[in-house]
Amino acid sequence: MEDRYNKGLNILKKFYGYDDFRPGQKQVIKALLEERNTVAIMPTGAGKSICFQIPALVFEGITIVVSPLISLMKDQVDSLQQLGIPATYLNSSLSREEYQRNMQGIAAGYYKIIYMAPERMDPEYIPSFFYRANISMIAVDEAHCLSQWGHDFRPSYMNILKFYQSLTKKPLIGAFTATATPEVKEDIINLLGLDNPEVFITGFDRPNLSFTVLRGENKDKFIVDYILKHPNEAGVIYAGTRKDVDAVQSLLAFKGIKAGRYHAGMTDEERKASQEDYLFDKIDVMVATNAFGMGIDKPNVRYVIHYTMPKNIEAYYQEAGRAGRDGLPGECILLYSAQDKQLQRYLIESSEKEQHRLEVDYRHLQSMVEYCHTPECLRSYILRYFGERSAPETCGNCSSCKQDGELVDITIDAQKVICCVYRMHERFGARMVAQVLKGSNTAKIRQMHFDKLSTYGLLSSWTLDDISEFIAKLTAMQYLSIEEGEYPLVKLNKLSYDVMLGKKKVWQKQVIIKEAVKQTPLYEALRKLRWNLARKQGIPSYMVFSDATLLEMADSKPTNSYELSKIKGVGELKLQKYGKLFLDTINNI
Ligand code: ADP
Ligand code: ZN
Repeated sequence: MEDRYNKGLNILKKFYGYDDFRPGQKQVIKALLEERNTVAIMPTGAGKSICFQIPALVFEGITIVVSPLISLMKDQVDSLQQLGIPATYLNSSLSREEYQRNMQGIAAGYYKIIYMAPERMDPEYIPSFFYRANISMIAVDEAHCLSQWGHDFRPSYMNILKFYQSLTKKPLIGAFTATATPEVKEDIINLLGLDNPEVFITGFDRPNLSFTVLRGENKDKFIVDYILKHPNEAGVIYAGTRKDVDAVQSLLAFKGIKAGRYHAGMTDEERKASQEDYLFDKIDVMVATNAFGMGIDKPNVRYVIHYTMPKNIEAYYQEAGRAGRDGLPGECILLYSAQDKQLQRYLIESSEKEQHRLEVDYRHLQSMVEYCHTPECLRSYILRYFGERSAPETCGNCSSCKQDGELVDITIDAQKVICCVYRMHERFGARMVAQVLKGSNTAKIRQMHFDKLSTYGLLSSWTLDDISEFIAKLTAMQYLSIEEGEYPLVKLNKLSYDVMLGKKKVWQKQVIIKEAVKQTPLYEALRKLRWNLARKQGIPSYMVFSDATLLEMADSKPTNSYELSKIKGVGELKLQKYGKLFLDTINNI
């Protein structure tokens, strides 16, 4: 056993250029090397792939990796080939000839790791070779696709068990996912026919991510400012609807920011092109609905901004978690407005699910809304939601814990708005309240005698849009409520009265968007070299070296290949292939 483990460590160093497994990886890899069936639940970025790739390389036979997305399969195989690991894939994107060629290579024992689409695992289609082959392990990636309770149910995943049952020599099974709910876990165990497997649930914290919630911010202005202050950094903007995606992308284009878009209303080709542009760093920003995600393994996403609140914490953490997979800092910002809640409620209402499923959805939505309002540590809120009891009270790296941004007292303006709603007897929508505060001279206002109210024109120096936005902000901060219906009415609640009677002050944190850290000329030169090398081979830049590896190079400035080989992410093959070029660049600057 020790032998196998040490062999694994050597492979990690030789091919991947990493010195050690991460603590969460260690236990999973040990269990698999001891040939125990294993379910590993690890957050995005924790390093699941290495958990099955290393055992695959230690075992004698071949390992089949089941992966749901054809696009991702090619990337993973390309990455492995870059490391010098014999891997290939079988899916419907291959031509007849390519398929034959891959099969020949597999039969000749050339490949150790074979990625397969679950559709290809239907025993009816499976090449007879596999029944004779020495299959050491089946690794089920994105194993939550087995479960109807998950967010990506794929009926074709049922083929895995059928395939397994048809084999005479039973391989080891490893299942991997980032989805932690008990229902999903049970489904994985049952639907793979696992009897008492090892189950590892790694801590869900992602210390390199910071979390921020902004309530009632001017969303358009915020994202434009943010992106302009983070040039050359990759980011994702998640919006709730296709219409929003199109609108945000147009806005960015109008501001001279080149951004891609991705949603289910586009053709397959359009989506593919957009995704590739992003993967290959041809565009830095992607505006997308939640349809975008599983297919990207891009490690250097530096920020994920939610333009709309998602439907639950699971979805949020998964989407936000696409930032910082490479372990470098990532920023996760959620822009909340009260309409977001209405949108999500509407989507649940129109989903035509059974009553008890609807109730679950509403409950999950409620937790998401609470996240948007909690004054407590956002990270510990999320971790507790996922059942981690040991979550610390404060993290120092979320908008609740951080003390940056000056607090501004906005009580007086808030009182003006609340009084106006009170005087209008809570029977009107936000637009009408804004018009009265502005002092607009409309027929409706004259007819209702609102021009006689003491609050008429109280905010006459503001623009109508600013007043509307301020009302939205107070609503998002729960100082006003909205009665939902065909014409949403602005209503008062307990907090509104507290403010109106002077019992409570309203504070607002000033939003400061920090500039991205300026990189050194050496780092920029290394990036450029990487970009050129990647382009020549038709692969994304991160497959040459990750940002983390480049940063370490720029920082420690190795002068010879021995020193270069000590840097994380520089394995033997890459050292051979690229070492000289990178050393030359380092020594010449
Ligand atoms: P996941 O599939 O869990 O989201 P990945 O397998 O894509 O995560 O790994 C995330 C990143 O972490 C990758 O860039 C990978 O190279 C890196 N990584 C994984 N294991 C280690 C390790 N032991 N040491 C250093 N980096 C690692
Ligand atoms: Zn915190």
